[in-house]
Formats: sequence, structure tokens, C-alpha cells
Amino acid sequence: MPRAFITGITGQDGQHLAEFLHGKGYEVFGMVKGQNNPKMTAMRDEFPYVEPVPGDLADLPSIVKALELSQPDEVYNLAAISFVAMSFNQAELTANITGTGVLRMLDAVRIVGGSQNNAIRFYQASSSEMFGQVRQTPQTEMTPFHPRSPYGCAKVFGHDITVNYRESYGLFACSGILFNHEGPRRGLEFVTRKVTNSVARIKLGIQDEIVMGNLDSKRDWGYAGDYVKAMWAMLQQDEPDDYVIATGQTHSIEDLVERAFAEVGIEDWRPYVRQDPKFYRPAEVDLLIGDATKAHRQLGWKPEVDFPTLISMMVKHDLALETAKLRRR
Ligand code: NDP
Ligand code: GDP
Repeated sequence: MPRAFITGITGQDGQHLAEFLHGKGYEVFGMVKGQNNPKMTAMRDEFPYVEPVPGDLADLPSIVKALELSQPDEVYNLAAISFVAMSFNQAELTANITGTGVLRMLDAVRIVGGSQNNAIRFYQASSSEMFGQVRQTPQTEMTPFHPRSPYGCAKVFGHDITVNYRESYGLFACSGILFNHEGPRRGLEFVTRKVTNSVARIKLGIQDEIVMGNLDSKRDWGYAGDYVKAMWAMLQQDEPDDYVIATGQTHSIEDLVERAFAEVGIEDWRPYVRQDPKFYRPAEVDLLIGDATKAHRQLGWKPEVDFPTLISMMVKHDLALETAKLRRR
């Protein structure tokens, strides 16, 4: 039975990846931080097959212990401070976890897995936020980076150090440059889920309006369930490499809002949306659109869920969730 170790197991992608790998017959270990992490209980209920292992990306000895205990064939480093807006307020923490945390993971892989036989295969969760103020459209593996947030800067370090450890020590280390991917498990702080959940609550009469920031920026949004398949596929190749994972379609935040309201039969969304400068960022990423040709050709990967289907899935999920909460009141 192959063994996989996932950091960020309590996050959106960690859950999808655990499900996917379990379906493929993997034994799945998940790193959980904190002495009484409230997400642990929910995780045990929903993913009883995941073996939780304590550890923190800020603490190298804890990562080494976790890898010694789980003895994985594959390591997926999904843990991060992942919210761009938060990274502006907690830049040092973001640098430490999202950036230096990757270095700690790579060193732990070298210590436990040994670099001589490249036993452990390593996946790093890189991000389209590294492209930031884009130098080229669409963005490919060759597009230069110009990050626009502490999060983006930390991800550039994580990406570069992954490539460096591959080149320096022969690690089987891959970096997936994933564009935004969403779904019902997305945190409520991210714009897609904030909108779909608010639209559901407005439809049910428990919320009056959505207060938002910049409606003009554009993102290439895919479905998280599709994207974790690409992570796995990268680690099954003969050689480690880096891949852009994206849909190749871009939509504005306004498009997202319009589509989510239309899903519940509200055609004129403007009376329900208010903009507040507090949600604007000190520096914005205006446009992201990825070219995943390399992943199509080499991994045989293609996204299956398109933007309208994704938003419809999320609104339906949030309507059911909020209705169930109302019934319990
Ligand atoms: P989430 O924010 O949903 O999950 C982040 C995870 O990191 C959580 O499990 C969290 O644990 C964990 N974590 C945070 N700090 C630490 C720490 N110090 N030690 C150990 N674990 C920690 O992110 P996603 O699942 O959406 O994303 C997965 C990865 O992919 C992230 O690295 C993200 O930056 C990257 N990415 C995501 C994209 C997206 O659109 N989703 C796009 C491109 C890249 P806890 O819950 O206990 O706080
Ligand atoms: P990001 O691409 O990783 O920053 O993902 P987000 O979902 O956090 O943000 C996507 C875009 O939505 C950014 O350009 C934000 O500025 C914009 N946006 C506009 N209003 C909001 C809001 O209320 N919350 C969030 N999170 N983003 C918003």
C-alpha cells in the first residue's frame, strides 16, 4: 500500500487530496497543528481513514518526527498561510510558514528520505499569485514572477527553493503552479465562497447585503477536486518538473457575483452589493489566466468542471448548508 503524507490536511485541498488518494488505495497521513485543533474532530468524522500526525511548519524537529512516523512514499506540502489579505497584516508569519516552511519540509525530506535514492517524492503547492503583476498573458511555466503580496513573495521563495533542492540534491521535488481553485470546502474568507454563501443567506432572508472590495480583478477559477488529481499525476512522472494548472478561462469578480445571484433567480444584484475600501488590498493582482498546455500534454490532465458549474455547485451547497442551520435554530 503506498503511503502519502499531507500537510494542510484540514484545508480545502488537503481534504480533496486525502479523499482522492484514499480512493487510489493509499494509506494517508495528515499533519495537524496545535494542541487542540478544533478541526480535528470534524476531520476524524469525515475522513476516518486519515491518520493524524502532530506537527507544525514552523518547527523542523516536529516535521522530521512526523515523517519518521509516517514513512511516506509521497509528501504533499499544502500547508500555508494561504489568504492574500491576511498576508499583508501578518507578513512575517506568512514568510515563516508559507516561505521558510517549505525549506523545513525539504530538509526534513532529505533527513528522513535520504537524497541518495530519492526515496520520497515531494510536491510543493506553488501559486499563480507568484505572477502577480503579470509580464505575459496567458501565464506559463516560463512567465517571470512579479509577486504583489507578502503571500506571493513567500510562495516565490517556496517555489525557488523547491527547484533549488531538486537541482542541488537530486530530490524528486515538483512544484505545481496552481491557479485559483474553489469548491464547497473553500474557506469563507475567499471571494468565491464569501459570495456563494452570502447569496444563499440573502435568498433565505438571513442577510441583507454583501460588503466587498475590488470587483474588477479577474481570476482563472477551477474546481479543487480536479486540481488535486494534477498534484498526484506530477509525482507519478519519470522526472520531477513544474507545471501550471489552470482552466485557461478568466472571469471578473463582477461576473462571479452576477452568476451567483442568477443561480438563485436574482437578476439585478446591484442593490445587494456594497463596496468598502477596507476590502481593497495595498497592491492588487488585476488579471490571472493560465496556460496549462504542458500539463495537458505531459500529465494528460484536463479540468472537468467549468466556471458556471463550479458556481452553481457552490451556491447549491451553501443553500443546503444554511437551510439546515435555519432548521436547527
Ligand atoms: P487552506 O487555507 O484551506 O489550508 C491551509 C492549511 O494549512 C490548513 O490545513 C492549515 O491548518 C494549514 N496550516 C497553516 N499554518 C500551518 C502551520 N504553521 N503548520 C502546519 N499547518 C499549517 O488552503 P488550500 O487548501 O486552499 O490551499 C492548499 C495550498 O495550495 C496552500 O499552500 C495554498 O497557498 C496553495 N494554493 C491554493 C490555491 C487555491 O486557490 N486554493 C491556489 C494556489 C496555491 P489549520 O486549518 O489547522 O489552520
Ligand atoms: P486570491 O486571488 O488568492 O487573492 O483569492 P481571493 O478569493 O481572496 O481574492 C480574489 C480577488 O477578489 C482579489 O482580487 C480580491 O481583491 C477580490 N475581492 C473583492 N472583494 C473581495 C472580498 O470581499 N473578499 C476577498 N477575499 N476578495 C475580494
